[in-house]
Amino acid sequence: MTKYIFVTGGVVSSLGKGLAAASLGTLLEHRGQKVILQKFDPYLNVDPGTMSPFQHGEVYVLDDGAETDLDLGHYERFTSTNLSRMNNLTSGQVYLNVLTKEREGKYLGNTVQVIPHVTNEIKERIRNVAEQIGDGIIITEIGGTVGDIEGLPFLEAIRQFALEVGPGNVLFIHTSLVPYIKAAGELKTKPTQQSIAKLREIGISPHIILCRTEYPLEPDLRHKLSMHCNVPIEGVIEVRDVKHTIYEVPLKLHEERLDDYVCKLLHIDAPQPDLARWRNFVQRIISPTHHVRIGVVGKYIELQDAYKSIYEALTHAGAANDCKVEIVKVDSESIEKAGPELYLGGLQGILVPGGFGERGIEGKVIAARYAREQKIPYFGICLGMQIAVIEFARDVCGLKGANSTEFDTTSPHPVISLMDEQHQIVEKGGTMRLGTWVTDIQPDTKAYDLYHSATITERHRHRYEFNPDYKQQLEDKGLTLSGSSPDGKLAEIVEIKGHPFFIACQFHPEFLSKPNHPHPIFFGFVKAAMNTH
Ligand code: GLN
Repeated sequence: MTKYIFVTGGVVSSLGKGLAAASLGTLLEHRGQKVILQKFDPYLNVDPGTMSPFQHGEVYVLDDGAETDLDLGHYERFTSTNLSRMNNLTSGQVYLNVLTKEREGKYLGNTVQVIPHVTNEIKERIRNVAEQIGDGIIITEIGGTVGDIEGLPFLEAIRQFALEVGPGNVLFIHTSLVPYIKAAGELKTKPTQQSIAKLREIGISPHIILCRTEYPLEPDLRHKLSMHCNVPIEGVIEVRDVKHTIYEVPLKLHEERLDDYVCKLLHIDAPQPDLARWRNFVQRIISPTHHVRIGVVGKYIELQDAYKSIYEALTHAGAANDCKVEIVKVDSESIEKAGPELYLGGLQGILVPGGFGERGIEGKVIAARYAREQKIPYFGICLGMQIAVIEFARDVCGLKGANSTEFDTTSPHPVISLMDEQHQIVEKGGTMRLGTWVTDIQPDTKAYDLYHSATITERHRHRYEFNPDYKQQLEDKGLTLSGSSPDGKLAEIVEIKGHPFFIACQFHPEFLSKPNHPHPIFFGFVKAAMNTH
């Protein structure tokens, strides 16, 4: 039998609904349950692939090449689920499907309406995912805040769905804010009461409220929330800000007995979770022996969410090395103005992440040069690899004006150029080289040392590639192409011989790092940083 948990959010955005959903997933998985998580996003984009990181934060890429919301990153990191494009549904996709069916005449002359056609499309998706998982629990997070106009069809659809699957099989969890009002010196329950009233207007009565708060919820306040929100006291869950790391959240929720109550309401007979390994991982983040400072040189650094998976992967690698990774966010444009020393001097590692567009490129090239010359560990990801190649071509091979055709279409040395299959493509959405592709690794390379394997699979998201016309020239000067696509055509990993750690990859390793399974390149990078003074 499939069980369904729907997670909504109220009062404000950024309450950590995705983290809460993922953390519940962790707990249920540790209780032996099969869990899958998914997200419904009410915006009209078909997927976030076409959105700027300023709008949306990171685009998280799945094995099947789906470009999805960054919450799916939390889901994959917090559980063992391997998600697919079925697990991130947007209003844009729903309407695209409905309108395509309408044009095909599938509605047989009927007037096409939000209810039932749009809501049916949403319910259909839930059923499809249920068929895939069978016996297990589907946790569905509804993006946005209750009260948003665009979220209404999703809420209506899950209300109807709950009626269809019946009580005991479905749970509504509402995440809300219990703010502390300084002048009054107390926590306030009214916003939560009102957001639940709003939810009830739509016909949904939550079984559980996750109360985001900065201070402990005392018993009288819990009682008040319970009474006014019509939720039994066991269902009033405190989700206080965690001190050190997001990985504490499952432990806190377990202390609040959230998983017990969920199992009780869904009639799941499951043993208590053994969280020892998780606790141990959290402990290693909280009190590590070592410490390194790693610079992440990007153009979206002021946004906490733009390089989310990279920051998480560094945390995982740090924990495995018993080392705190202090992330120094460096704006690549500042380097262009002030030079590298001011921003990069004293760092033990430099990471250049993925990116698009010309702005800030030269600052990244300077950062790559600084890392190469000063023998500071360098890790380039996607654009960060292309930057490393451009820098090496210009400075070591003397190819003046070497560049990517993404930034300079008239470059005399287009060492990075559009992939062959991309020349015909005009549409922007979902048309890059996306998802899992195999890479063959050369023996006797740093990459081989890290992976201990001759073939690997990693997730991709790019249109440009290392131009093979320059392969020989760059290799002659000491750039090793240590990984390539099995047909030998696409460069996947480059490294510099004789440098303590200079490795860059065309794929996005950050999407495969997990708390207790750090990604091998991230692990090696942090280790190399620890040996740098
Ligand atoms: N803009 C580059 C490309 O399309 C790099 C993409 C990325 O870093 N994800 O190839």
